[in-house]
Amino acid sequence: MNERKNQLFRVQVSVRQRPYTKDEIELKKTSIVKVSNQNELTLQCGSNGKNYTFDRVFKSGASQAEVYDVVVRPLVDSMLSGCTCTVFAYGPTGTGKTYTMIGDSVRPTLDFLNDPSVGMVPRAAADIFNRLSQLGVQFNVTVSFVEIYNEEVRDLLISDTCNLRIYDDPDNKGATCIKGVSEVPVKNCTELFELLMIGASDRHMASTNLNRQSSRSHTIFTIVATIRELSNGVETIKTGKINLIDLAGSENIGRSGATEMRAREAGTINKSLLTLAKVIKALALKSQHIPYRESKLTRILQDSLGGKSKTSIITTFSPSPDVFEETISTLDYAHMARTVSNCPTYNITTIRRDHLTKELESEVKSLRLELN
Ligand code: ADP
Ligand code: MG
Repeated sequence: MNERKNQLFRVQVSVRQRPYTKDEIELKKTSIVKVSNQNELTLQCGSNGKNYTFDRVFKSGASQAEVYDVVVRPLVDSMLSGCTCTVFAYGPTGTGKTYTMIGDSVRPTLDFLNDPSVGMVPRAAADIFNRLSQLGVQFNVTVSFVEIYNEEVRDLLISDTCNLRIYDDPDNKGATCIKGVSEVPVKNCTELFELLMIGASDRHMASTNLNRQSSRSHTIFTIVATIRELSNGVETIKTGKINLIDLAGSENIGRSGATEMRAREAGTINKSLLTLAKVIKALALKSQHIPYRESKLTRILQDSLGGKSKTSIITTFSPSPDVFEETISTLDYAHMARTVSNCPTYNITTIRRDHLTKELESEVKSLRLELN
């Protein structure tokens, strides 16, 4: 496989505050957030304050469309060129991770204008299918949807699966695969939305039964597009991938040594999330050993952190003074992730097809355009 090497690409980190809830407005809560400009904000609570710089600071009330345009659309561009891309939603429980990634509606529609709450996954899916059909190329798209809960990897697209194993990808050094995970072919957005809903409701059901535990699971929705193009007797095959991740609540990391110990005792520490923070720290400090193998999440995503992917983190937080410390610790971790760089490569294979004349190629292209 030809891999076009690119320059370093730093992990992009944006922050998004959730709006005040009705209760918070009634209680006349003040906000701890002051947004200075598109890149800077200050958290202020009494005499305690801290300034941060991020790749993007969204204003309170920023729309899903704006977050998509700024954070996810550029990654979809890269994915359609054959790159692997990852978007994480990171933040404490109740700050808008699931809202950002999936949206509020139980069943997303393509009617974004009438339902502006549609999240990043459906928007990315619609964008990918729109652009593929406009290109007039041959393509196929598959999706996978897994959950990591209690260090077990579960396939959300088939019921009653056991813990799936992770192994090194033999064709892609540094990347990993999940053994036996379903990669379901989808022809259009409607089919993809159907799978998203099946998987999301599976997670949701588990979370209602076990109550608080949804805040301790991670979900990874993956879209893979294989694009075949013929030009001047050469067939080009690009394989792009985007992972859209809704992480467990960042409170499950444990804030300091002391709270981490308490969280461990209560059994609420989340090994995958804790290891994610450790991996980010080790990469930020340029350590020799990066502990990817210590958790399922970091093992699955090792290529997205310090590897060959393009990665963006959307950090969600609450503007309430009640959780000032928690917000500081969340933004501190997120800020550290900005020092991590990846070296993205593009998965592109070319095959000579000399027997096809140019006329035939253009005919195939125009027929495909008609079909789409
Ligand atoms: P999390 O997944 O981080 O636990 P949720 O996505 O479930 O949090 O969000 C908690 C609540 O806040 C939901 O009712 C959600 O609709 C609302 N919410 C979060 N972020 C936003 C936002 N940016 N705009 C409007 N509502 C939001
Ligand atoms: Mg959630």
